[in-house]
Amino acid sequence: MGYLDGIRTIKDLPIENKRLFLRVDFNVPLDQGKVTDDTRVREALPTIKHAMSRGAKVILASHLGRPKKGPDPALSMEHVGAVLAEHLKAEVHVPDDCIGDAAKKVVFDLRDGQVCLLENLRFHLEEEKDDEAFAAALSQLADVYVDDAFGAVHRAHASVHGLAKLFRDRGCGFLLEKEIAALGKLVTGADKPYVAVLGGAKVSDKIAVVEALLAQVDALVIGGAMANTFLAAMGKDCKASKVEGDKLALARTLLEKAKQKGVEVLVPIDGVVAGSLEATEGAVVDVSSVPDGKMILDIGPKTIELFAKRFANAKTIFWNGPMGLFEKAPFSKGTFGVADAMANSGAFTVVGGGDSAAAVNAAGGDIAKKMSHISTGGGASLELIEGKKLPGIEVLRGTTA
Ligand code: ADP
Ligand code: MG
Repeated sequence: MGYLDGIRTIKDLPIENKRLFLRVDFNVPLDQGKVTDDTRVREALPTIKHAMSRGAKVILASHLGRPKKGPDPALSMEHVGAVLAEHLKAEVHVPDDCIGDAAKKVVFDLRDGQVCLLENLRFHLEEEKDDEAFAAALSQLADVYVDDAFGAVHRAHASVHGLAKLFRDRGCGFLLEKEIAALGKLVTGADKPYVAVLGGAKVSDKIAVVEALLAQVDALVIGGAMANTFLAAMGKDCKASKVEGDKLALARTLLEKAKQKGVEVLVPIDGVVAGSLEATEGAVVDVSSVPDGKMILDIGPKTIELFAKRFANAKTIFWNGPMGLFEKAPFSKGTFGVADAMANSGAFTVVGGGDSAAAVNAAGGDIAKKMSHISTGGGASLELIEGKKLPGIEVLRGTTA
């Protein structure tokens, strides 16, 4: 069974001359009213353009930031509408509100192939409460519902859950389809050998992912600050490194489970150490001989080679969590080296996690292009991998409301 089973895509839906509610993820970073990174807008363009070219009246909607008390001009969709208009080379009206008369006026004036962008959904606190009346008010604007906001599907919020239920014709856009297909394959039947690479800041952030992966993978490769806790659990003295002292027992339990399930676990054998997070250079040492006062801030060259070798015959590789403090050049080689080995492994490769995606994009060359899939959703991608049912995806299954 495929993870996309029972979910229609925008291609299957009758959107010609119809009013289409298109939930996108335009939660972009803003600095004093300027969009500082429009990646999310650009990623939504294929679905938007497809809908326009088929003559739909396109009603775009998204949340932006975390307004806690209702409308906040600093978080108005106007800022995003201007960027979108440039990309589409078309007018993009932004009504003052996402529901009610203001929204209706703009929406009912749309002609086939035209686009509007509703005001920030979170200006109504009902959005995050999956409020039925709010969903009903949104539903009055459109005939067909399409969700293309993967970053929001793990939350049961009105625009991705309650609203979708109110449409007989509902489905996913191209971006969401790609996410579900790639991540869903890891859950429903990854080709073996399947290797998972985990890193990042903390073991405690990733316990559920590790547990879920242990049931599926052939090998678990651990790097990043997370590896320190595993190394400590194995009896290594990591000196000043970040170690979660209260997670040592858990790390031992996870290692024991891996053994029982026959999952091979690879941990770093060397690391790049320095005196503090602010250090401007590091030294390579064996993990058994970290000097007093030093902390491990990256995996070392021998470890990169060890991990890369494990990728050689893998058919599937999933990666979440940087191998070190990759934001700083002296501690980025491990993360970029692993990204390079993964990209060139020939396996089906999936990257999930906000910082991990940023790391792959920062790795340079054609590394990002060579990955099979880089997920746009941090929390959503991990919850999907954990095997959780995501409300915004499940609601799209079935053809009747
Ligand atoms: P993701 O967002 O991809 O899930 P995380 O948020 O778990 O990843 O972790 C990313 C952060 O972990 C990065 O900011 C990185 O600098 C940090 N990190 C990774 N390894 C280390 C380390 N050895 N020491 C300190 N910080 C680390
Ligand atoms: Mg992160």
